[in-house]
Amino acid sequence: MQSHQLNVYNTLSRKKELFEPINPPNVGMYVCGPTVYGDAHLGHARAAVTFDIVYRYLKYSGYKVRYVRNITDVGHLEADADEGEDKIAKKAKLEQLEPMEVSQFYADSYHRDMELLNTLRPHIEPRATGHIPEQIKLVENILKEGLAYEVNGSVYFDVMKYNNKKKYGRLSGRVIEELLSGSRELDGQSEKRTPLDFALWKKASPEHLMKWESPWSLGFPGWHLECTAMSSKYLGDHFDIHGGGMDLMFPHHECEIAQGNACHHTDPAKYWMHNNMITINGQKMGKSLGNFITLQELFSGDHKVLEQAYSPMTVRYFILTAHYRSTLDFSNQALQAARKGYKKLINGYRIAKSLTYSQEENVPPDEKQIEQVRKSLGGIFRAMDDDFNSAQAIGHLFNVLKKINATYTGQLSASVFGKEVFESMISTFIAFTEEVLGLVEEKPDEQDKLLGVILKIYTQAKQARNYQKVDEIRNELKQMGIIVKDMKNKIDWAYEE
Ligand code: ZN
Repeated sequence: MQSHQLNVYNTLSRKKELFEPINPPNVGMYVCGPTVYGDAHLGHARAAVTFDIVYRYLKYSGYKVRYVRNITDVGHLEADADEGEDKIAKKAKLEQLEPMEVSQFYADSYHRDMELLNTLRPHIEPRATGHIPEQIKLVENILKEGLAYEVNGSVYFDVMKYNNKKKYGRLSGRVIEELLSGSRELDGQSEKRTPLDFALWKKASPEHLMKWESPWSLGFPGWHLECTAMSSKYLGDHFDIHGGGMDLMFPHHECEIAQGNACHHTDPAKYWMHNNMITINGQKMGKSLGNFITLQELFSGDHKVLEQAYSPMTVRYFILTAHYRSTLDFSNQALQAARKGYKKLINGYRIAKSLTYSQEENVPPDEKQIEQVRKSLGGIFRAMDDDFNSAQAIGHLFNVLKKINATYTGQLSASVFGKEVFESMISTFIAFTEEVLGLVEEKPDEQDKLLGVILKIYTQAKQARNYQKVDEIRNELKQMGIIVKDMKNKIDWAYEE
């Protein structure tokens, strides 16, 4: 394990804490995954990339991570309420499909999008529908603890009673009295004792499609319950990291904490992490605002807000240029800048892979250069250790890139760094870019070989002084986003930045 100390912002304590796993070097990480009833959008991308970086950096730091991310394929109702229609069932009725067809279709499409963004797959990806018996068991336990009650075949969590034992609202910093006064009065129809109570099990109406047998009724579990059931099953009652989007903090994660304490007598996770939202040109993303952009629309450019298509790596880079707890604003300008930044970095990555150290006579090590490289390399890890600050880490990485570029163009001799520093600079740059940031080259298969052939023809044309041919090749390649680089001793290519 690396010797550096990692600090993580814990939403529960509202401060950065030294990361100390419960059973080092093992780390258990649970992230709330997508509800699969529609195409993945920018919000999904941000959550997935955020926790991908957390997972990748922990792995890079020597931890053995078990990464669990669920798929919500049942029980998630309109507006996250306890009443109303299941979103998946609604879509299924609309398209005359089985609910399972709907969730399978969108789960597959989610996976394809996440793969394009180069996020690593979790080790376990449990589905809510595959864990109904576990959820029923939890309801039984909470009832036994006296912290839930049954009404007409439905079971509700008794928030007031729980609050007398253990404070409700610790994660989101909400006080129960304020929550109560802020919530709508229950109408005479409601089965709940207070508006804050939430469903653990709901009796299904006859037209409800997804339903299961239980001791209380033919029904379905409440949404919050699945995460308690699946996280405790695969990671234990108390595990290291629980992640998700900020919008899940309340009530979803707050309810998970209440459920965990009710049946396991402990908080489910030690560290709670939440990624912030993405806004579109300063506005919240929403279907009614016409600025709801799916990832497929982003990758194809097919949306009225978009001036062009943006590649998956551009989108990934864009997400990494902000700290995960800051809001991130989407605009064409910001995406175009991200595209440039990504191309710069990936050109450096290609160069770094081609460079080898050679000792030049009469070129002694330059302490100033060495010091600058050490400072930038140290800065990359200090930034990541400071609550996964990928934005700052990229800044330091660009300082390293300057040195790599200078060596490549012959401005600096590799000898000024000395063998050890030069090689650690190159290997850290490559490893950090591909393993931690997860940025890879976007290119068609065989591109390198084909460009090699074209550059050979280009060189021959140049030697024959056939400048018309030379210009033709340069222009054709430029149209494909490839720049021919004529240098003193070599001819190479780079992505247009
Ligand atoms: Zn969840």
